[in-house]
Amino acid sequence: MERDVIVVGAGPAGSVAAMALAQKGYNVLMLDRKPFPRDKICGDAVPAGAIDLLFSLGMEEKIRAADFYYIDKLRLVSPKGYTMDADLEEAHHKARSAIVPRLQFDVLLQQHAIDSGAEFQVAQVKEPIVEDGRVCGVRARVNGSTSEVRAPLVIGADGVTSVIARALRPEEHEDGHRAVALRAYVDDIEELPHEVEFYLYDEILPGYAWIFPTAEGQANIGLGMRLDIFRSEGHNLKELLDRFLDMPAVRKRLRPGAKIRDVATWQLNFGSQRNVRRAYDGAMLVGDAAGLINPLTGGGISNAVTSAWLAAVTAHEAFLKGDFGYSSLRVYEEYCHQRLWPSMRRSFFIQRLIGIIPWAIDLLIKRGQSDNEFAQTFMTKL
Ligand SMILES: Cc1cc2nc3c(=O)[nH]c(=O)nc-3n(C[C@H](O)[C@H](O)[C@H](O)COP(=O)(O)OP(=O)(O)OC[C@H]3O[C@@H](n4cnc5c(N)ncnc54)[C@H](O)[C@@H]3O)c2cc1C
Repeated sequence: MERDVIVVGAGPAGSVAAMALAQKGYNVLMLDRKPFPRDKICGDAVPAGAIDLLFSLGMEEKIRAADFYYIDKLRLVSPKGYTMDADLEEAHHKARSAIVPRLQFDVLLQQHAIDSGAEFQVAQVKEPIVEDGRVCGVRARVNGSTSEVRAPLVIGADGVTSVIARALRPEEHEDGHRAVALRAYVDDIEELPHEVEFYLYDEILPGYAWIFPTAEGQANIGLGMRLDIFRSEGHNLKELLDRFLDMPAVRKRLRPGAKIRDVATWQLNFGSQRNVRRAYDGAMLVGDAAGLINPLTGGGISNAVTSAWLAAVTAHEAFLKGDFGYSSLRVYEEYCHQRLWPSMRRSFFIQRLIGIIPWAIDLLIKRGQSDNEFAQTFMTKL
C-alpha cells in the first residue's frame, strides 16, 4: 500500500497532523494500536491556546457542541498551606481552557481527522521501514498478521514510548528532563467550581499534586515529580497519592465513601533537554514522541498540537519541493525551536529555581493570599 503520509498514533498530535494534511488533500493513513474512544493517562487540562488551534482546523462547532467543563480560575497551595487564587486571563484567546477527560477529548479529534479525509486503522506499529538511511513506511501488526505500508513521509505521533523515536533516536531522555506522574478520578469531592488547584509541597517539589474538577462533585486528581528525584528518594507514587489524600485540606473535601478510581501512572519527557533531533530523512516526530512536555506544568497537549501543525506545514512544503530528506524537513526543528523554546526555557528555569529555593514558594503564595493584584500578576507571569 502506498500513501502520501503515514501518521503513527491518533492522540492530539497525530490527529492534528492527520486532519491538517487531509484538509490539504493528501492521502493520509493514521494508525493507532487502540480503537477509539480510548483513555490516556492525563490531568485532562486542555489550554485555550490548544483549542484555538483546533478551531482554526474546523472544530469550533464540534467543540462548542461538546460538553466541556470550562475553567476560569486557578489556585496555588504552598507547602505551609497558604493559598493564592487568580483568574485565568484568556481574553486574547477565542476559546476557553477546559478540563476534558481524554476518553472524550481524543475521540473528538480523531473523528475530525477522519471527517477531514484521513483513513484510520487500528494497528500496532512495530518499527519504521528504513532503506538506505531513509524512512519509507512502517511495519505493523494488523488483525494478527504483520504488514508493511509505504509512504514518502512518516509522522511519529506515538507518544512517550514511541517506536518511531526509539528506532531513529535510540538515546533516552535524561532523568533530569523526565517525570513520572499518577492520575486518578475521584467521585464525591467538594470541588472548587471551575477552578484548578495545584498543591506544592516539600515531598514532591519541584513537582506538584493537582485537583482538576471535571464536573460537579467529580475531579481528576494526581501528582507528578521529576524522575531523578523520584529515583534518588525511592518514592512510590501510590503511597504519595494516599498521603496527598490524607492531607487535612484535601481529606475534609472528600465525602464519606468517596471513590478513587482509574488510578494509573505514566511518564513524561520534557522539552527542556537540548539538541533533541525531531526530523530525519523521511520522518518527523511530534508531541510526546518528540519529547515536548512543559518542564514546569507537565502540560503537553498544547505543544503536541502545535508541533503537529508545524509538521503538517513542513510536510506541505516538502510535497511542493518533492523532497522529503532531512535537509528539507529540518526546517520543522527550527519552527519548533522558534515557537516552543522560549516558554520551555523559562519554565525550566523556574522549575530549577523552585528546586533550589523551595521556601520562596511559601513567601510568594503568602503574599498573594492577602494581595489580589500581586496574585494576579504573579500567576500571569508564571
Ligand atoms: C499523569 C499525566 C498528567 C498530564 N496532565 C496533562 C494536562 O493536564 N494537560 C496537558 O496539556 N498535558 C498533560 N499531560 C501530558 C499529555 O498527556 C501529553 O503531552 C499528550 O497526551 C501528548 O499527546 P500526543 O498525541 O503526543 O501523545 P499521546 O496522547 O500519548 O498519543 C499517542 C498515541 O499513539 C498510540 N500509540 C503508541 N504506540 C503506538 C504504536 N506502536 N503503534 C500505534 N499506535 C501507537 C497510543 O495508543 C496513543 O493513542 C499529562 C501527562 C501525564 C502522564
